[in-house]
Amino acid sequence: MSDIQPRRAILAMPEYHPPLGGRDALRLDFNENTHAPSPRVREALSTLSLESFTIYPERGPVEAKVAAHYGLKPEQVLLANGTDEGIHLVTYTFLEEGDECLFATPSFFMYDVNAMAMGAKLVRIQMDDKLEFPYERMLAAITPKTKLIILCSPNNPTGNTITREQIRTIAKAAPHAVILVDEAYFHFFGESVMDDLISGELTNILIARTFSKAYGLANLRVGAIAGPVNLINHLRKASSPYNVNGIALTAVNASVDDTEYIDWYVAQITEGRERVYKALANMKVPYWQSHANFVLMHIGPRHKEFVDGMRARGVLVRDRSSDPGLDGCVRITIGLEDQITTGIAALRDTLAGMGWTPAEVNKPETQPKETPDYE
Ligand SMILES: *Cc1c(COP(=O)(O)O)cnc(C)c1O
Repeated sequence: MSDIQPRRAILAMPEYHPPLGGRDALRLDFNENTHAPSPRVREALSTLSLESFTIYPERGPVEAKVAAHYGLKPEQVLLANGTDEGIHLVTYTFLEEGDECLFATPSFFMYDVNAMAMGAKLVRIQMDDKLEFPYERMLAAITPKTKLIILCSPNNPTGNTITREQIRTIAKAAPHAVILVDEAYFHFFGESVMDDLISGELTNILIARTFSKAYGLANLRVGAIAGPVNLINHLRKASSPYNVNGIALTAVNASVDDTEYIDWYVAQITEGRERVYKALANMKVPYWQSHANFVLMHIGPRHKEFVDGMRARGVLVRDRSSDPGLDGCVRITIGLEDQITTGIAALRDTLAGMGWTPAEVNKPETQPKETPDYE
């Protein structure tokens, strides 16, 4: 066995625990689309020839199409192998060792992993019990060493949002820093800072979008980073030229402007979210209002027993209690109508089977905290 060591920053990173085993059940655990992408995707994929598999993919034309859909110039969009790779490219391109990277927590664990891998100093700003965005404390945390601020709105796993005015103020308060606005759940919320990019008023923002959530293409791995031309050019330089494969590009090309499909899917989710709120209120399970396709609920110290009970009934949900400030919290993804019916029935049955009572919610955690994981 050799004793070869990786870079210090990699050595210092926490290991992550990918979700256990198979997911052959109702997938209310990863916030993916739980149905299928636009029907235009199947049509487009069926036209692919076997010969097309032999050709290196060409990202440019699809980038131009996505950019036009956002109202931007072609040079303003970079496609990546999932937004995960987009986040990686942003940290890789802009963070020097020792630079400060700011974000609110609990949030998406990929921010920690990527900023840490670059040897940056992570400045995590804890949300309070209401799980609102810590706007004042975020502004106060900006220093001359701040190089990257990541704003996730709607935020995963809490579902809370940051107002457009707050994002604008933060961007203007840190003109020396890149502001990455992660809009992975944009479609379920509807608000965006894209107009500030189009008008050119904010020159230091990058906007991340994904094709994994509303569009239903998580398996194909496509995300987009939009921004001012000079910043996108730096990212493009750092990116591998063939990072998005041709099958994925074909699917994105076919579905990016199928607004009819997206509107239908978003309407399903909005209705389903209301049904889940109502069911949780009925069962006296505390939850937080969400502007995304998931809801965070507070089960209490028996969170693991609850998640296992749901799994035994064929429904996967996500234990988030290892996230900072989320003791006893579990996240459920909103699916289509019949999936919500199944999910709510499993919820009811699991809680009844456990003899769960609302009084146990605020009892202290009994198990040691695990390292947070991805998604
Ligand atoms: C799911 C998610 C992403 C996107 O993931 P990809 O599948 O890599 O495109 C990005 N940010 C947040 C906050 C997410 O929840």
